[in-house]
Amino acid sequence: MALIVHKYGGTSMGSTERIRSVAQRVAKWARAGHRMVVVPSAMSGETNRLLGLARELLPHAATPESMRELDAVAATGEQVSVGLLALALHAQGVPAVSYAGWQVPIETDSAYTKARITRIDGERVRRDLDAGRVVIITGFQGIDPADNVTTLGRGGSDTSAVAVAAALKADECLIYTDVDGVYTTDPRIVPEARRLATISFEEMLEMASLGSKVLQIRSVEFAGKYRVPTRVLSSFTPWDIPLDEEARSGTLITFEEDEKMEQAVVAGIAFNRDEAKISVIGVPDRPGIAFQILGPVAEANIDVDVIIQNLSHDGRTDFSFTVPRNDFPRALDVLKNRVQPAIGAAEVRGDTKIAKVSIVGIGMRSHVGVAAKMFRTLSEEGINIQMITTSEIKTSVVIDEKYMELAVRALHRAFELEGPGTA
Ligand code: ASP
Ligand code: MG
Repeated sequence: MALIVHKYGGTSMGSTERIRSVAQRVAKWARAGHRMVVVPSAMSGETNRLLGLARELLPHAATPESMRELDAVAATGEQVSVGLLALALHAQGVPAVSYAGWQVPIETDSAYTKARITRIDGERVRRDLDAGRVVIITGFQGIDPADNVTTLGRGGSDTSAVAVAAALKADECLIYTDVDGVYTTDPRIVPEARRLATISFEEMLEMASLGSKVLQIRSVEFAGKYRVPTRVLSSFTPWDIPLDEEARSGTLITFEEDEKMEQAVVAGIAFNRDEAKISVIGVPDRPGIAFQILGPVAEANIDVDVIIQNLSHDGRTDFSFTVPRNDFPRALDVLKNRVQPAIGAAEVRGDTKIAKVSIVGIGMRSHVGVAAKMFRTLSEEGINIQMITTSEIKTSVVIDEKYMELAVRALHRAFELEGPGTA
């Protein structure tokens, strides 16, 4: 019998009725003889509510001392969930015990609100499993070396679940969520989008980092590092569907590439509107200039994504890059007030109305002309490409935000990703 980790998101835990249904589903797996560990999120909306209360009392930016307390508050959402789920299992006659992160313990660093898991001691959990208990562990939280409660960042329960699965060497980590798997693209934009039966870990990592919000990106990194077989599936199927049918549903993240090579070259289309573009115009073209522009941006702790530098004319060039939209005002400020005067650039321009659209697929490694097909498709739609960036398994373009949906639809069609059925 297998050791299985289930993760349930906030929507799945949204009411006592839903928690009961989660308990029935878990009970079904336990009764089939599996050793079960469950990692739930806070009830839906709860983390927002808690952080809202905190913000009412501390409207200004949090000091390091306050960050500690924010985590102390935010972590309580999951604490409630695990206790309620254990009670619901008891009501089903299933032995179950709940643990907060510190009781396991799930050890993290001290970066409040975005802590990283450093180690999980699986001993206590294993003893409970041996005694036939379902073990329910809080998602999203851990404990730092000085015994402070920490949280892992929004959406962090995915990471908790995969990390627990890795530590226990679980046979599979099933992430139950409000979508029934990973799609070729967002079905709200392309109704013909298709669910993928499998996706390679590398593709999933790209999809997650490029804007597909199905899994927290760190959870995918964990799955890759420890090769945790991870499946994304729906928590809205009736809890009493046959177990073997449920076990095959959703999308499995795989680590074997060979089978995949024969399939579609492009697995999916990702997009996001989370970035803004900054152009520094009329930059003197001399060694060190990229560092002089981007150094101060990095010092301000702002991530830079796509970068292009134009060919120079008469010793001057233009330099453009994208930053997270949230950081755009700060980045513009650094560039206008510090960088521009220091390097003698003619102008600094910003544009928040951009979108990044990406095609992702490990098949791109072995097929030529994939990027060209992307560019041709966009040109046929009259969409101007402002920036391009590529890696081995993805090509991203920055375009005007207002053409984003058109671009996604056209690319989905051009790469023949539409249904029916499942890949
Ligand atoms: N409850 C946390 C959040 O809302 C963690 C999670 O749901 O994954 O971000
Ligand atoms: Mg989530």
